[in-house]
Amino acid sequence: MGTHGTLAAKVRGPVLEPGDAGYDEERTGFQTRDPHRPGVIVGALDAADVRAAVEYAAAQGLPVGVQNTGHGLPLPADGGLLISTGRMTGLRVDPEARTAWIEAGVRWSQVVPEAAEHGLAPLSGSSPGVGAVSYMLGGGAGLMSRRYGYAADHVRSIDAVTADGRLWHVTPDTDPDLFWALLGGRANFGVVTSLEIGLFPVTHLYGGGLIFDTDLIPEVMDLWRTWTADVPEAMTSSIALVPVPDIPAFPEELRGRHIAHVRIAHSGDAAEGERLIAPLRAAGPRLQDTVRELPYTEAGTIHNEPPTPMAYRSTTRALRELDGRTVRDLLDLAGPGAPDRAILEIRHLGGALARPPVVPNAVGGRDARYLVGVLSKLRPGVDEESVRSLHERAAALLDPRSSGGILNFLVGPDAGPEMVRASYDPATYRRLAELKAAYDPRNLFRLNHNIPPAA
Ligand SMILES: Cc1cc2nc3c(=O)[nH]c(=O)nc-3n(C[C@H](O)[C@H](O)[C@H](O)COP(=O)(O)OP(=O)(O)OC[C@H]3O[C@@H](n4cnc5c(N)ncnc54)[C@H](O)[C@@H]3O)c2cc1C
Repeated sequence: MGTHGTLAAKVRGPVLEPGDAGYDEERTGFQTRDPHRPGVIVGALDAADVRAAVEYAAAQGLPVGVQNTGHGLPLPADGGLLISTGRMTGLRVDPEARTAWIEAGVRWSQVVPEAAEHGLAPLSGSSPGVGAVSYMLGGGAGLMSRRYGYAADHVRSIDAVTADGRLWHVTPDTDPDLFWALLGGRANFGVVTSLEIGLFPVTHLYGGGLIFDTDLIPEVMDLWRTWTADVPEAMTSSIALVPVPDIPAFPEELRGRHIAHVRIAHSGDAAEGERLIAPLRAAGPRLQDTVRELPYTEAGTIHNEPPTPMAYRSTTRALRELDGRTVRDLLDLAGPGAPDRAILEIRHLGGALARPPVVPNAVGGRDARYLVGVLSKLRPGVDEESVRSLHERAAALLDPRSSGGILNFLVGPDAGPEMVRASYDPATYRRLAELKAAYDPRNLFRLNHNIPPAA
């Protein structure tokens, strides 16, 4: 029996300690670099297991973290208790109410097809593999977000275990403070066991990718920048500059090229979508053009993000505006001619994301119009020192022009206290810290994007 042997008697799911078979697999998710190193992991089967794990951690004074897929790994935990939610995959769609009840381990790839059976869609994001609950608690800017706002703005109720081990059914009417704080403050306030979320009557998008070759990159970047200034809210898009490896895993026409990948998700009429993107198509020949009317169940093909776990480092910042000078500086930093190979991504925000929600919540980033990310894959042989230097330069370039971070995209070294604070406006952060002092005065929930309790 390991150090935490008595815990196994309190939970139904597995309890794993360093050295146990399954420990490494359980702690490692999508981000394979520097995974959590908890003293003990509880593979929760249900809300009762989550409760027992939190009660045990509180009694032992162990800090608590929670992980589903590991797509949003903050600073890795060193010691403490990690609650792993991947086994909690309960999902129910209510077509009449246009809602879904989703448990903590559900991914978008599970919700999207189930909702589509009823002609409905969730406000999911670019990657179907991302965990739906954490995505929504962190805000959630997805493929239809300029039209419908942050996914968090459409949460109806939350089941969560707070630091005192109590399981709450939180609604805006019963517990407005906790409801407000969980949506935006996320794991700081509780381990969420399930959410009830709104669904939307969307069956198709006009969407896909326009891929341009290296020589068109400066022109396409600038065209996309000016084009996004006044597109309607039904149009959500992003652009990524990607140095494609010269290996057979990639389509022949893209191999070894530095490409511009414009991703289109138009949730209005297809003919209108086609008309709207005509100026982008007119920029020149495309290596690939997959923009078409597609069922929402194929929405993951728009960004076509890799489903397999990988090691990477990323730096992301929100911008209130994107001027031509910033685009040129970003091209110098991470474009085709730059000394370091990196992926540069800019997502278009604004629209309904900029409006306050009908039911207030703590989600930040409402003044952001663009989200810029620089991402380096840490393949074997990559010089970690040059990656570190690139990301320091990315932060130095973006910080003076940035309105802060967007919580969902803060990972690794970016997930420290300063960037977490910079993801909220000052009044929201202050209120979050005060509520943290009320709900979790010992900061038991600190293996996360931490908001320390107000003094
Ligand atoms: C390829 C990729 C694409 C993405 N696309 C988008 C996008 O389009 N839009 C967007 O907004 N975001 C996007 N993200 C960011 C993503 O939404 C966040 O990283 C999100 O936190 C991932 O949740 P997860 O459960 O998959 O990850 P995890 O790493 O398992 O969770 C991240 C953190 O969330 C907290 N958490 C997890 N589960 C719970 C719970 N049950 N209760 C309380 N707290 C919990 C924990 O603090 C945990 O450390 C993307 C990320 C990646 C890697």
